[in-house]
Amino acid sequence: MGSWCIHHASCMFRSSLAAKLPKMPSPKKADSRNHRSLLLINIGQLLTLRQPKEHRGPRRGRGLQELGILEDAAVLCADGKIVSVGKTREMLRDRGFKKNPGQVLEIDCQRQVVLPGFVDSHTHPAFIHPRLSDFEQRISGATYEEIAEAGGGIRSSVDAVRRASQPELREMILAGFRQMNEQGTTTIEAKSGYGLTVESELKSLAAIRDAAADWPGTVISTLLGAHVVPKEFQGRSSEYVGLVCTEMIPQAAKQKLAEFVDVFTDRGAFSLEDTERIFRAAEASGLGVRAHVGQMSATPLEPLLCFHPASFDHLDHVNEQDIGKLAGHNTIATLVPGANYFLGVEKFPPARQLIDAGVAVALATDYNPGSSPTPSMPFVLSLACTHMKMLPAEAIAAATINGAWALGLGNRKGSVEAGKDADLAVFEIQDYRELPYWFASSRCTFTVLNGLVLTDAGSSRWE
Ligand SMILES: [Zn+2]
Repeated sequence: MGSWCIHHASCMFRSSLAAKLPKMPSPKKADSRNHRSLLLINIGQLLTLRQPKEHRGPRRGRGLQELGILEDAAVLCADGKIVSVGKTREMLRDRGFKKNPGQVLEIDCQRQVVLPGFVDSHTHPAFIHPRLSDFEQRISGATYEEIAEAGGGIRSSVDAVRRASQPELREMILAGFRQMNEQGTTTIEAKSGYGLTVESELKSLAAIRDAAADWPGTVISTLLGAHVVPKEFQGRSSEYVGLVCTEMIPQAAKQKLAEFVDVFTDRGAFSLEDTERIFRAAEASGLGVRAHVGQMSATPLEPLLCFHPASFDHLDHVNEQDIGKLAGHNTIATLVPGANYFLGVEKFPPARQLIDAGVAVALATDYNPGSSPTPSMPFVLSLACTHMKMLPAEAIAAATINGAWALGLGNRKGSVEAGKDADLAVFEIQDYRELPYWFASSRCTFTVLNGLVLTDAGSSRWE
């Protein structure tokens, strides 16, 4: 166990690099104790990602390298929001704290690196089992598509989700949220997509809502009824798309269970025409849209841009004309190199080409049981650097501020600026470049989620 001790207005934490990460048994949703002030001091490097108001919007090109680093920094938070950011010395001089020191929880960050909590803008946590036989078959040489044709793949996760109760699903989803949080993630986009019936897709979304209610971070829900055509609709995909459009989408919207609708648009999944139909239905129900595109083959993107998707995800295959078009839009290109790593494919998404053309790029885990069972944004950052030639600074901006824009949260999340949500991740490193450098390593010492500090005691501690 770590050695958290909180005395009135100060908190020391573990400094051993080898120390195990804190476990978080059952953090409760922020309660009234959360509405007190929190002051983080002695931050070695604070990556603010701040941006002048006139340049608000997703980061592109060289803008991705601007981390707005402040050394010897401090951050003051209150009521779940960031109140001010500055030098430790100046913040401590502020008379307000001296008058009422007991009202402020002060945490000495011991010169560690602090950044905005990661925004993981693409995850599939609503599943029951890991897909271990797919894993073995792939090691023995079967491709993703061959495994799917033989009854594995996405469809093999469906039976268990259909049978599962909503509380069982909620447990699995919550476990996923906690693991992501242990790696520095404070905002998560969570998709349904392993039920593929009206009832089990709505059950998955309701389970996401239930898990989110027990986790102090921020969750954005996405209906992915169009993940794959279920076996009972084999050869009748148009009918299944009809079900997604006329039942799933309107019901999810009516019950306020989803903010976005996603489609797996690719060879072996849904066509461009199917996707347009689904996007029109989402628009009619007032939901935002996003799509999995270009994982197996290049999908023409231009016809979909008129729907203003929040993001196009994967983009392993994308043609040059579409890259040019994307650069002129606010649609984020969300790259998920964990899937490339886990599927053992040599080709990774062309991040350099996208960034150099001016496309706004984000990074996400694609946490799912088939192709990317990792909750770790730091590992994804490492892959982005080593396999997609993104600089550490670009990877960090892609995983924070651009992830926030990919969820329509750019004005609330993704940077450490006064007025934004108090979402922070503290890492036991001295230089931000160590984040992707120590790959497959757990160095997140603690996070702040909407102003709530999680300690290894398992809950918020405000004394
Ligand atoms: Zn995905």
